[in-house]
Amino acid sequence: MHMASTQTSRIIPCRHTPFPPASAKESPANGKGWAVLRQVGFASFYRHNRSGKRFSVCVRRSYAEPNGLDGPGFTKKSQDGSSSSAVEDYQKEGLVLGTQRHEGPASLAGLHLIPQSGDAKVTDSYTKVPSGQEHATPDTEENILARITFNIIFVAAEVAPYSKTGGLGDVCGSLPIALAARGHRVMVVSPRYLDGGPSDKRFANAVEVGCPTKIYCFGGVQEVSFYHEYRGGVDWVFVDHPSYHRPGTPYGDVFGSFGDNQFRFTLLCHAACEAPLVLPLGGFTYGEKCLFLANDWHAGLVPVLLAAKYRPYGVYKDARSIIVIHNLAHQGVEPAITYNNLGLPPDWYGAVGWVFPTWARTHALDTGEAVNVLKGAIVTADRILTVSQGYSREITTPEGGYGLHELLSSRKTVLNGITNGIDVNDWDPSSDPHISSHYSLIDLSGKVLCKIALQKELGLPVRSDCPLIGFIGRLDFQKGIDMLLSATPELLQDDVQLVMLGSGERQYEDWMRHLESLYPDKYRGWVGFNVPISHRITAGCDILTMPSRFEPCGLNQLYAMRYGTVPVVHRTGGLRDTVENYNPYAQEGTGEGTGWTFSPLSRENLIAALRIAVGTYRDHKSSWEGLMKRGMERDYSWNNAAVQYEQVFDWALLDPPYVK
Ligand code: ADP
Repeated sequence: MHMASTQTSRIIPCRHTPFPPASAKESPANGKGWAVLRQVGFASFYRHNRSGKRFSVCVRRSYAEPNGLDGPGFTKKSQDGSSSSAVEDYQKEGLVLGTQRHEGPASLAGLHLIPQSGDAKVTDSYTKVPSGQEHATPDTEENILARITFNIIFVAAEVAPYSKTGGLGDVCGSLPIALAARGHRVMVVSPRYLDGGPSDKRFANAVEVGCPTKIYCFGGVQEVSFYHEYRGGVDWVFVDHPSYHRPGTPYGDVFGSFGDNQFRFTLLCHAACEAPLVLPLGGFTYGEKCLFLANDWHAGLVPVLLAAKYRPYGVYKDARSIIVIHNLAHQGVEPAITYNNLGLPPDWYGAVGWVFPTWARTHALDTGEAVNVLKGAIVTADRILTVSQGYSREITTPEGGYGLHELLSSRKTVLNGITNGIDVNDWDPSSDPHISSHYSLIDLSGKVLCKIALQKELGLPVRSDCPLIGFIGRLDFQKGIDMLLSATPELLQDDVQLVMLGSGERQYEDWMRHLESLYPDKYRGWVGFNVPISHRITAGCDILTMPSRFEPCGLNQLYAMRYGTVPVVHRTGGLRDTVENYNPYAQEGTGEGTGWTFSPLSRENLIAALRIAVGTYRDHKSSWEGLMKRGMERDYSWNNAAVQYEQVFDWALLDPPYVK
């Protein structure tokens, strides 16, 4: 979700397989199914394109195969029952897609494109997805049976509890279960990460399905296998390949992002497209009529593959794809020359091709040409979703669009935001196994005990009356961590305690250690990724702060409110949508709101907002309790979001595929 890919070195050595000869791919008479039909502007791909920007792209059509075969790259069953990729057959006859290999130079790592000025117009013509509460039907057995259900395939780089570095993992671990509970058939496809350590046991219940599948990319053939676990009504499918077996996070290790992330996630996307066709889960494959939910750039090739590799051969004609953007700052950008590694037909470059604006190029001779996987998804998916409504607006602005705002604006009619839910069983203060005392809306008394236990655990002075402020998150510029760390000395002049949990950039980890040595009685910085501690901080703190520069949705403020911990956040993206600013005078003086939001983001505003919160905590106990209770009363369950996802599925199926 948050690590951009870097380079394409360190790739598996591959046999070089040449592209088919021009005669083979251009002449329909050769019976191999490819012909260039016409050149069109990209605008015709955008049925709702308003930007008027045109790119040249080639559209191809398939020719019926005499043997009724599909097309290159997808699997067919032979008469003896063994499955082989159709690519193999084409390869035998000299027609193989996307196996040419190019070693690109070091990649264009981590995209942080904020244009110096922008001229895109921001309008407010977004369609709001009706909220779950507005039109949900109760989950009676009768209603579940009466519902239109879908075969849904989630594709994601991380899925909790098997793998998690942030919100992407949480969402892809919970939303599928909520959708399955509503009657859908749901498969989640993600890599089988192993590092030889204790965390490998998370995959212990997943058994090999026995459908080894060949994937043609990066100049050769890769064989992946699939592991499967049925849990919570969901088919959890893990793609197995040696490139997923190494220490570190799904994206990198102490030395930075893995150099072969483009390879690893290209494999994932190809495998995810094959899975519904080949895996007989519970005795039946999912088949072609699927709805793919591709999450972030790692899964971004899925909509492109459906359009370029499958549909021209009549496969997945009735499928639809939705790209779900959890964080636009990471787009999977690599040198243009790596296009040939992706396993796409040669003339689909236009879909993923991208050009850096002049100001973002590194030198005068840099043409700025690149492959941008997320861009490919945006121009080929049937619909686009973000994880909050606020963020769906922000990404169409020059400030929040990371170079893609015009493209996203051009598809605004199919762009929606649905606020994430949370796993309310996992995050429940009345039963959370990670916290020392339980509490609820009816009886809050356990919360102060959690605070005392946390102070003891962290070696802070045990003082139940001292306001305890918390922060949990990736130590990344996005999270405004620099702002919080620089504000800390001034904040700690007051009688408050501050505890921070996070891992990420080394400089911030060192900064936290330094602050701890300066303020041993008031500050704790816990460097690392530790889920039980994150629960204890959420329960034990009075205030949770999130000074994020941008926040697509943000989950910690939702967890905090559910635990009666009052959020103080920068008014941006999902934080703006979910934290209601406190107004003590509303409701005839009883007050309304669930926390404090401040804007613009600055060190001074952060300190001021936190001081107001601390003052309210100290001097207005009943107002504070009102804030806590209003936050705890909110419905954060996934069911609410799942109903809205269903509405978007309906919309996706109303239209024909965006790229036929
Ligand atoms: P993002 O996805 O940008 O990292 P979110 O707020 O959407 O941010 O989700 C972050 C998730 O990761 C939350 O579940 C949060 O509790 C968890 N998390 C982040 N950092 C840590 C950490 N150091 N230890 C444990 N959990 C963490």
